[in-house]
Amino acid sequence: MVADVTGGAADAAPAIELRGISKAFGPVQANKDINIRVRKGTIHGIIGENGAGKSTLMSILYGFYKADSGEILIDGKPTQIADSLAAIRAGIGMVFQHFKLVENFTVLENVILGSEGGALLKPSKARARKLLTQLAHDYEMHVDPDALIEDLSVGHQQRVEILKALYREANIQILDEPTGVLTPAEADHLFRILKGLREQGKTIVLITHKLREIMEVTDEVSVMRRGEMVATVTTAETSPAELAELMVGRKVLLDVQKTPAQPGEVVMSARGLTVTDRHGVEKLRGIDLDIRRGEILGIAGVAGNGQSELLEVLAGMMAGTGTMTMLGEEMDLTLRRDNARTRREDSIAHVHEDRHRCGLILDFMAWENVAFGYHNAPEYQKNALLMDNHAILEDAKGKIERFDVRPPNPMLTAESFSGGNQQKIVLAREIERNPDLLLVGQPTRGVDIGAIEFIHKRLIELRDQGKAILLVSVELDEILSLSDRIVVMFDGRIMGERDPEQTNAQELGLLMAGVTGEAA
Ligand code: ADP
Ligand code: MG
Repeated sequence: MVADVTGGAADAAPAIELRGISKAFGPVQANKDINIRVRKGTIHGIIGENGAGKSTLMSILYGFYKADSGEILIDGKPTQIADSLAAIRAGIGMVFQHFKLVENFTVLENVILGSEGGALLKPSKARARKLLTQLAHDYEMHVDPDALIEDLSVGHQQRVEILKALYREANIQILDEPTGVLTPAEADHLFRILKGLREQGKTIVLITHKLREIMEVTDEVSVMRRGEMVATVTTAETSPAELAELMVGRKVLLDVQKTPAQPGEVVMSARGLTVTDRHGVEKLRGIDLDIRRGEILGIAGVAGNGQSELLEVLAGMMAGTGTMTMLGEEMDLTLRRDNARTRREDSIAHVHEDRHRCGLILDFMAWENVAFGYHNAPEYQKNALLMDNHAILEDAKGKIERFDVRPPNPMLTAESFSGGNQQKIVLAREIERNPDLLLVGQPTRGVDIGAIEFIHKRLIELRDQGKAILLVSVELDEILSLSDRIVVMFDGRIMGERDPEQTNAQELGLLMAGVTGEAA
């Protein structure tokens, strides 16, 4: 049941209350008459699909956008928040999806930057150092005040953002999708920090689209859908299935249903694959991989550990050394202009992890994008000279329909679709060619959970048709639920292989951080 926890309760004034907040960007109504109350000293989740309006709502609270209408109350007092300075004065801190730290400044300098009182002067800098050290100690966020931001891991940079807000005496901390860039261990640490803050009476608003995180760390959760607030529920009284249904507006199958893999012959085999970038840095350091028919081989790893290069070299988009064979035939690993095309002829399809850069031509129409790269296929030719546009369009219509692209209008430009629907256009094109090997990077990045369910089903269907799938994803849940075998990459190397039935996020997380065997 959906209980309305925002209605009754509240002996003390809520830390935050938003009343009737609306905000439009041109024709897009990003927030529609939003009401929400966040109780003091709680961790309050805000969940919703991409584009639901979460970031907009919190950006209004932080004074980054101005609402078209509505009211903000902080500790029960109507408060005007015209800019982020006003938000800081009202005791609100925000950690954005993309950090706003100055890379070549130290931790200390970043923390005091923008605070009042000429803090970069020496005496106040000493005071600031003392306070920062105290805060870091109290909340178990150990970072060296003199380290340069650019030398810190992403997880540590995030701690600096939180410290910065604490330094400004924020009682309310808003975190927008904070775990997208973290390893599982870093995410766990962040949650411990948040729980510590709650114990100190701070109020936390956690924006995420990850149900697991909501269940693990929040007290209450508000669900947004298409600009509206559809419900606020007590976390202990809800379930992932209920939240997913509220988010999407229909029942969603959260668990991937699949039968055990029936691996067949080796489809693709790589030995000693090495990639060196133009600065002479080795991005891939001797990768050996075999992938068989009827299996999904998942590659786990924190972004930037060579996964992108692995996909690109296999897809013929990047030069490498070593060997790659496809159904026994040796592939050319030098960089030639037609390599990406010949790979397609060799029945290798590629869903690039960056669909804007490499998957779509944004100002071309959906039907053209669905044919893109395969436009020389025999069934698309009218005669020796002309492509059969009618055949391409009809074919595209079918694919767009089967992949549930919304809106199902092949004449719209790729740009006018949401991220999830753009991804479906790319997947429709690549999967429906029935490749023997599908290389797929971040298939569900930026994709709504309704569409994730669909994409996962299609990948498993392809596997069950005896195709080989190499799946790269930074989402560990995705790797764990789809893969038949899991390989972890760290620093351009394979750290180990695991059976998904016999491993877990903790073990994989250690491998992802470069920790193996005894050390673990
Ligand atoms: P979420 O954070 O839930 O993914 P957002 O608040 O970022 O959603 O976006 C809500 C809607 O508002 C989306 O349709 C998005 O495209 C639109 N939107 C957000 N920011 C802007 C902006 N600065 N200009 C135009 N449209 C925007
Ligand atoms: Mg957002």
